[in-house]
Amino acid sequence: MLICKIFVFGDARGIPGLKNAAVDLIISKFIQTWTFLIETVHFVFNNTQESSLLRRLLVDMALESGDLDKMKQYRSYFTKDFLVDMVVTMQKPNRIASVTSKEQWASRSLCMYHDHTNVVLFSGEVNSYKHGLIDS
Ligand SMILES: [Zn+2]
Repeated sequence: MLICKIFVFGDARGIPGLKNAAVDLIISKFIQTWTFLIETVHFVFNNTQESSLLRRLLVDMALESGDLDKMKQYRSYFTKDFLVDMVVTMQKPNRIASVTSKEQWASRSLCMYHDHTNVVLFSGEVNSYKHGLIDS
């Protein structure tokens, strides 16, 4: 949850690098535990814009990490917007797969969840997100 709060802070303050670092950490933890962060759905969907890449990430993690039948027992964790995003994502013809594996997630380009916006600093220089070892 703390990582999602850091993302929201970075979003509110216009710090793409912080958002991207939070996304990288969320994905890294997701791959390690192979557990969807179900308890973050309300917070993320109540504190981000419709176009938020964190929303997209949560929906992809939910759709691709397990059995959707199990979602019935966790219905109180989901918001309407989350469920609408799930349905919209499911019907996209270019969706990667219905269920993937840790290995597939680990080899995926994280840039689809990154904000590559250049930010002009107070000094006037342009600061773009620097990738780590994953995709430099
Ligand atoms: Zn990137």
